[in-house]
Amino acid sequence: MNRLAYLPIWAITLCSLLLFSSCEDNDGVIFSIQDDIRLGQQVSQQVDSTYRAQGKLLERNSTNAKTQQAYQSLDRIVNRVLNSGQVKYRTEFPWTVKIIKDDNTLNAFATPGGHIYVFSGLVKYLEDEDHFAGVLAHEIAHADKRHSVKQLQRDYGIAILLSVALGNDPGTLKTIAAQLAGSLAGLRFSRDAETEADNTSVDYLAGTNHYACDGAAGFFIKMQQDAQQSSPPEFLSTHPDPGNRIQNIQQLAQQKGCKTTSAADTDFQQLKNALN
Ligand SMILES: [Zn+2]
Repeated sequence: MNRLAYLPIWAITLCSLLLFSSCEDNDGVIFSIQDDIRLGQQVSQQVDSTYRAQGKLLERNSTNAKTQQAYQSLDRIVNRVLNSGQVKYRTEFPWTVKIIKDDNTLNAFATPGGHIYVFSGLVKYLEDEDHFAGVLAHEIAHADKRHSVKQLQRDYGIAILLSVALGNDPGTLKTIAAQLAGSLAGLRFSRDAETEADNTSVDYLAGTNHYACDGAAGFFIKMQQDAQQSSPPEFLSTHPDPGNRIQNIQQLAQQKGCKTTSAADTDFQQLKNALN
């Protein structure tokens, strides 16, 4: 059945005006992949300039040897996940990754259209490369499954979001960038989206043939043990219950029969050392 039949008349009109390059087969998202990419460019430029102004963005073109080492190590970890053969928009999205030097923030996030950010606080907190890869896989899944753009579409409406993607609404762009980075009240994903991101992290990590496919569960276990965390990051949102998430991820890993033994932590240790 034609999905367009469920869309309101104005949406069909917009589609027919070719404002969107694709209005089909996108799971309720009126935004096209091209619009995701445009929105991601806008949001990542905003995130970059915000943290650059605070002196916290580690620049990829830095001549500092430790910064260069940090990116070499981080890229190896991220690329294993991206090259797992499981990332749907592997070639369409740019998939950049940047480090924000903020040891007090335990977070990572991905914008729509595939721009990943890692706070140094998360790297310092975690001890296991598989757990770190699990968090990255979860965030990559939110972008790849288009959860973030779906949620933004719900929160702001299609017209405003398209205006932001086209660079015509700097005020809303700043708000969205701050929401994604968690410095405002964060973007709240649905329970289904969180579960799908957890499940997808198992597929991504299994596809690496390197990491324990239940790496994200290891992360939640550590977070539960250190429950004194005052402001939980996006991936630790209270829904679904973290205990259920651990069980769900581990059950899925068992069903799939994928490897659950840890990989060597070489790249992660190098990354940690470079951020000291
Ligand atoms: Zn999440």
